[in-house]
Amino acid sequence: MSIKLFIPGPVDVSADVLEKLSTTQIAHRSKTATVLQENISKKLQELMFTKDLIILSTSSGSGIMEMAIRSCTKKRAAVFSVGAFGDRWYKMAKTNNVAADIFKSEVGQPTTPEMVEEALKTGLYDVVTVTHNETTTGIMNPVYEIGQVVAKFPGVLYLVDAVSSLGGAKIEVDKSNVDICLASTQKSLGLPPGLSVASVSQNAIDRAKTVEFRGFYFDLINVVNRALKDAQYPTTPSTPHMWALDYQLDKILNKEGLQNRFDRHAAMSKTVQAWAEKHFGLLANPDYRSNTVTTILNTGGKSVGDLNKELMTRGYLISNGYGDLKEKAFRIAHMADRDPKELDDLLKEIENIWGL
Ligand SMILES: *Cc1c(COP(=O)(O)O)cnc(C)c1O
Repeated sequence: MSIKLFIPGPVDVSADVLEKLSTTQIAHRSKTATVLQENISKKLQELMFTKDLIILSTSSGSGIMEMAIRSCTKKRAAVFSVGAFGDRWYKMAKTNNVAADIFKSEVGQPTTPEMVEEALKTGLYDVVTVTHNETTTGIMNPVYEIGQVVAKFPGVLYLVDAVSSLGGAKIEVDKSNVDICLASTQKSLGLPPGLSVASVSQNAIDRAKTVEFRGFYFDLINVVNRALKDAQYPTTPSTPHMWALDYQLDKILNKEGLQNRFDRHAAMSKTVQAWAEKHFGLLANPDYRSNTVTTILNTGGKSVGDLNKELMTRGYLISNGYGDLKEKAFRIAHMADRDPKELDDLLKEIENIWGL
């Protein structure tokens, strides 16, 4: 029996999209590869509401996170964290010898524009990192409002991890003054893992050129230069993923339509939130709840591990709480191509198993 994944990545991928992975191999230095990237770029610019350069990385999203913070920080990075994925930016900075400070919010609370303003007023920083959608706590941060603050400080770059939200929630890169917006394919975009995507502003490129040690595989300038030259990559990209991405973006933009897609995600999040309020409680501040994943407090005190074992026999999988939240909370992802009917069915199964 196949298991429906309600985990925050990897997500189920539709059969027609999977089929595109087996497109006949092409030479990565061919005109066909250039055209494929150009098509993907146009579509991603539409999805991200940006005119910025689009790059892909044959790595998971963490690869572009590391590329971004290492290549763009000349002075010092202000890392804003609302959970484990915010902390990851900080670990990346530290392990790459990039100067950084971390600003943590209380569990379940967002990064606020005020926090960012206060940090930037010190004049210490030239990079701000924010997690748009913290997949561990179910917080969706106010990326637009924070961007208005960052814009008041010329010379500060704004790096946004939209790994689990891009494709499930509206992110207006240009209006929000985001310099690098990055995402993995295996979350709300509805593709297999192994590729990640990003928009890169001219300011980010200009800064990175002044940073001496950018590494090799994840050197932003190496990647950008080749992209600008002929829309190709310095090293061999996963062209199978690129075919699938190009096709899936068509489905997102033209078959479903962006607004419908955002609305579907919002509707599913409302459903889970209402259900969770009724039976349990939610971790995230009500004003900053995610459209793509909900973290539910396990107030009933029964084993989440056992629940998942039983759900598996019925064809479903959800996620336990992450890290310290294991068994204290559980997570239901409602992203990519999942639909409200499937979600209703899952919730009924949980009610049935736990006797709610
Ligand atoms: C999953 C996730 C990551 C890590 O992505 P990988 O593709 O596994 O590298 C980073 N940030 C957030 C918010 C995530 O949900």
